[in-house]
Amino acid sequence: MKSLADIAAALQGYDPQALSVSQVGEFLAQLTQPLPTHEAQDVPLFEALGRVLAQDVISPIHVPPHNNSAMDGYAFDGSQLSPAQALHLRVVGTALAGKAWPGRVQAGECLKIMTGAILPEGLDTVAPLELCQIQTEADTATATANTTITVPAGVFQRGDNRRLQGEDLMQGHAALTAGAHLTPAALGLVASLGQATVRVHRRLRVAYFSTGDEILSLGQAPREGAVYDSNRFTVFGLLTRMGCEVLDMGVVRDDPVLLESAFCQAAAKADAIITSGGVSVGEADFTKAMMKKLGDVAFWKIAMRPGRPMAVGRLGTSVLFGLPGNPVAVMVTFLAFVRPALLRMMGSTASAPPLLRAKSQEALRKKPGRTEYQRGTVSTAADGSLQVRTTGNQGSGVLSSMVQGNGLIVLHHSQGNVAIGDEVDVMVFEGVV
Ligand code: AMP
Ligand code: MG
Repeated sequence: MKSLADIAAALQGYDPQALSVSQVGEFLAQLTQPLPTHEAQDVPLFEALGRVLAQDVISPIHVPPHNNSAMDGYAFDGSQLSPAQALHLRVVGTALAGKAWPGRVQAGECLKIMTGAILPEGLDTVAPLELCQIQTEADTATATANTTITVPAGVFQRGDNRRLQGEDLMQGHAALTAGAHLTPAALGLVASLGQATVRVHRRLRVAYFSTGDEILSLGQAPREGAVYDSNRFTVFGLLTRMGCEVLDMGVVRDDPVLLESAFCQAAAKADAIITSGGVSVGEADFTKAMMKKLGDVAFWKIAMRPGRPMAVGRLGTSVLFGLPGNPVAVMVTFLAFVRPALLRMMGSTASAPPLLRAKSQEALRKKPGRTEYQRGTVSTAADGSLQVRTTGNQGSGVLSSMVQGNGLIVLHHSQGNVAIGDEVDVMVFEGVV
């Protein structure tokens, strides 16, 4: 495990008083490690949604297991097709999904076939019902009906409407790789292999508490100068959405004994600790002092807005994220730094979702030399392109902006002012916030 000093020494241009957003990302990638795989667990599929795979899922079978029909129609040997001539075929039977049709189909013959039914040996093409002409005539000698079909010329190619064995997944190949998130589609994919359980990383345990003497817990009477604790609820929501096991430790008063006990309890139980408040310069409180006393912790000023101050380090084996107190700053620093770091710890190999590009509907003032995250609402313009406007007041305490907006406009480090109509990057909240 690298010490903070080792990581800092290896990081180009490291200056805790002026870190760029990308340097913070690099630092945290060095600080955090995926959960060990020996703690992984097998869980039934219905309990696996949102978990992270600890092991590749190798397909024990071909999916689909046989060549089969993609349509309700007539299956035949496609080598008989010719571009200029319609094909007349006698129907010799019907193949239903779920059981193999036992006969053989000769040249000049075809088989009525339902979607998903196995294509018998020698048949490689299916003409959908609605594209064939069907003729039925009574055979008086045998008292049965003779059905023939006409497959129109120039419409089909050999292999049309055939699903090949293993075209979804090949036997012996990885259907999913370790580090993948079990999305609804992934659950279905695992089920399609006939597999009832998956080996996943255990849930990441994250403890969090709010600090500050002015912070009221819900249920306490309001008093002058005090604000209700909102950070625990946003952090709870963000962590829960990520699939973490959350340990809520309440509001911790600015008292060294209480702080020490909270940090020690959190470090004993959790993989990561998130605090809010008490890390800015000139804080007349004990939070920073206690972090310094109990762990290997760096105090940063980050070239960003909102969210300049942040403490990062280790308490025992837990990773500590000391977030600023302002409610928007908490969410922004969480999204920008904590979330990617926790995903890494969870064993996820998912890359960050791509930023959207949208035309700014307003001019934005921006100083080069820091990254700004403005709350914005992305919508579709009349011409179908994406556009974005800010939610108004961008104060770092204006939590309603995070509710109104559907994303963060990311104004990058070296970027300057934005004119109306300029394209900007947007990190969308969908499914995260
Ligand atoms: P600090 O980082 O401790 O200086 O706090 C900055 C601002 O955020 C102050 O106005 C605090 O009152 C506010 N704040 C700190 N913690 C919380 C919290 N848990 N919930 C809501 N506001 C908070
Ligand atoms: Mg404070």
